[in-house]
Amino acid sequence: MRALSSPAALAAGEGTTWLRAGIAVRNHVPGLIGEDEVAAAAARMERFAPLLATLFSGAQWDGRVRSDLIDYPGSDGQWLVKGDHALPMTGSIKARGGVHELLCFIEDIALRHQLLSDDVTALAGPAARAVFARHRVVVASTGNLGYSIGLVGRALGLATEIHMSHEAKAWKKERLRELGATVVEHPGDYSDTVAAARQSALGQPDTAFIDDERSRHLLTGYAAAADEIAGQLQAKGLSPSVEHPIVVYLPCGVGGAPGGITLGLKRRFGAGVICVFVEPVASACMLLALMEGEGQAPSVYDYGCDNETIADGLAVPRASELVLAAVGNAIDAVVAVPDEAMVAWMRKVWTEAGLRLEPSAAAAFAARDYLIDAATGAPGWPALDCATHLFWATGGSRLPDSEFSPLIGQDEAC
Ligand SMILES: *Cc1c(COP(=O)(O)O)cnc(C)c1O
Repeated sequence: MRALSSPAALAAGEGTTWLRAGIAVRNHVPGLIGEDEVAAAAARMERFAPLLATLFSGAQWDGRVRSDLIDYPGSDGQWLVKGDHALPMTGSIKARGGVHELLCFIEDIALRHQLLSDDVTALAGPAARAVFARHRVVVASTGNLGYSIGLVGRALGLATEIHMSHEAKAWKKERLRELGATVVEHPGDYSDTVAAARQSALGQPDTAFIDDERSRHLLTGYAAAADEIAGQLQAKGLSPSVEHPIVVYLPCGVGGAPGGITLGLKRRFGAGVICVFVEPVASACMLLALMEGEGQAPSVYDYGCDNETIADGLAVPRASELVLAAVGNAIDAVVAVPDEAMVAWMRKVWTEAGLRLEPSAAAAFAARDYLIDAATGAPGWPALDCATHLFWATGGSRLPDSEFSPLIGQDEAC
């Protein structure tokens, strides 16, 4: 074990907070991923919306990957929830980054085979499908990324190979097999599973590997969400500023989803948004990386943590080095929360707001008290009790009753 300000707390399963010292650095976003790249991702999602609408037409949906910004009941507008738990197709935030990367692959194939026309819905037709069927997409996942890539990849007619680490829930694997995806189960953790999947895709013709640890397309797909939220905040008459900051709580696995959103938000609002990453105490890989501050991603096992958590979407032992390089400097705080707090908030949010969240998403709510405790009186930190708090609900609406009900302490029949 290495020396840290509070390694023992993490290893003992206690909530832990890391704060960046001083507000000045919060404006600094490195230029590794350019604004043009994010704009291109947003434009691609817009261009392909009619195709997604055609493939998932049962939903009466225009094909845009958007979610509501919800006022939390009884909070007087101080608590907002970004409802990505109910995103179309996948019911998780992966509909942004994961689907964007899939569309990059599809667009590339379509270009090479002269399948692109003014009408993108033609890509759902038999000629395009026959071409897509000769291509394969490989991905590793703790559950949601694989589920999303399998679901949308199969809808497009691609062959899909989904490598699942041991946390992945049985219902996601079953559902994927029903859709005709190949599911490869691994006994190991997420880092091992990514390495195995990367190896399996290596040198294969007509194969794309969606690399959760290194992909720019994932990051830019997530970053495109900043436009959407900016419009929604404006519609509510909110303009984030240093005097009136918005604290955004972002559940973090490898860091791609929260990293992309942070990139987009910081570029727009600078220090007006305070970006807080939230992890399980057992998998606090981003917290450890920032505490270490060497631009490298240490493994949680080296700090006495076991990476065993109820939050399957966040069960990652090592953060993405691409995310650290692209937005590490812009992360204001990381809160590691215990599993019990996630489950308690799942119940509370269900009872008070009727939102069906998975533990990974409920973690966002659990982080607020820890953050306020740590930030109160900390140098360079504003008072947060009067700030607006925005909880990014990253997944859960597709959880079957058999998964959800036991977690919130109800019989399945209820
Ligand atoms: C994937 C996921 C996250 C975190 O995304 P990373 O890119 O791994 O950091 C958070 N919540 C849910 C529900 C997810 O599926």
